[in-house]
Amino acid sequence: LKEPNVQAEASPFSSESFDSYVMTTYGRFAIALERGLGCRVWDTEGREYLDFVAGIATCTLGHAHPAMIAAVTQQIQTLHHVSNLYYIPVQGELAKWLVDHSCADKAFFCNSGAEANEAAIKLARKYAHEKLNISNPTIITAVASFHGRTLATITATGQPKYQKGFSPLVPGFHYVPYNDISAIESAIEELDKDERQVAAIMLEALQGEGGVRPGDLAYFQRIREICDEKGILLILDEVQVGMGRSGKYWGYENLGIEPDIFTSAKGLGGGIPIGAMLCKSFCDVFEPGSHASTFGGNPFACAVALCVCQTLERENLLENVQQRGEQLKAGLNKLAAAYPHLIAEVRGWGLIVGMELQADVELTSADIVKSAIAAGVLLVPAGPKVLRFVPPLIVTAAEVDRALEAVESAIVSLGNTLA
Ligand code: PMP
Repeated sequence: LKEPNVQAEASPFSSESFDSYVMTTYGRFAIALERGLGCRVWDTEGREYLDFVAGIATCTLGHAHPAMIAAVTQQIQTLHHVSNLYYIPVQGELAKWLVDHSCADKAFFCNSGAEANEAAIKLARKYAHEKLNISNPTIITAVASFHGRTLATITATGQPKYQKGFSPLVPGFHYVPYNDISAIESAIEELDKDERQVAAIMLEALQGEGGVRPGDLAYFQRIREICDEKGILLILDEVQVGMGRSGKYWGYENLGIEPDIFTSAKGLGGGIPIGAMLCKSFCDVFEPGSHASTFGGNPFACAVALCVCQTLERENLLENVQQRGEQLKAGLNKLAAAYPHLIAEVRGWGLIVGMELQADVELTSADIVKSAIAAGVLLVPAGPKVLRFVPPLIVTAAEVDRALEAVESAIVSLGNTLA
């Protein structure tokens, strides 16, 4: 593999002119990325960074993986888009792989995580109306959850900051604290009395945006029992934690339960947009005309996603995720032991790891991200006090060590300015 040609012409867009044309919906860090290879990316000035963001948990196989290049090239040369008016063989192959490697029986394809969650919400509501005879169904979601940026998914999201300014929101959602079983039990009872019967509980197996918070085993097992007792659907949003990132194919495998419906996106396409909503056949109440997406399940995205799935399996990447994840967590725990006044906790599964800063220290995760960028490592906050590590699943031991060194130097230099 050749390194990218960093001498290539610089982008004509300075960050200033970028902001005069592109809506400022993101708070961006001041570098412009141009090329990538494996776990490394280069900015327009030719500086190299280790990419521990991976498009926010999307670039499963890193950048410019030969298998992905081959899949992209082969499919674009063959057929890249047709309509779901016709059968699309590679869409069927991808659905089969996902069904064979999960608890689901059926898949619906769309283009993003938010869309996959929209599909799950619509399926759960249709099921509630048609099979449970609930006319005013409620979906319970968790405080600090994140499910996307469409109107229904910001409503499902249990963080008011994403909803502010967008009212009226979509009715039919109710929030409970995460990992708190008595809160769910009493919410179900109260909503029932209120004639807002619960049709579904929608949760992340590990809350990503909410601060890299793994689900509690006993909590999820009890929720599964409650759902079975009461005929409530369990929907898991696997958009961030799924597709091998947790060290298992799906986050729920870490909790010893199976959902009725789950969603995937981000890592599924390895950086190419695709979303999927999967379900068990008993709750598949969709029929022709129920739901659709022009680009959903297009041959290009499906061929790339199938390549990601098969490469995960062929290269035995789950083992790499487990080993590199342990190495990363051990290294961060060592830092936490060395700097207990700065670091409160390290947590996560596989290669989705969070490091929480002490609440009383005047240091934010964004401060550390900026300092880590200067040290040559890209990281992403998960809230103001949590630093998130989500590298490509192909990351090597040497790259994890290099990232740990850079984080330590970032923390030491910032810690010194506080002293
Ligand atoms: N669900 C979860 C758990 C997510 O982390 C995200 C993205 N951060 C989404 C849904 C939304 O995905 P997308 O941006 O692809 O719509």
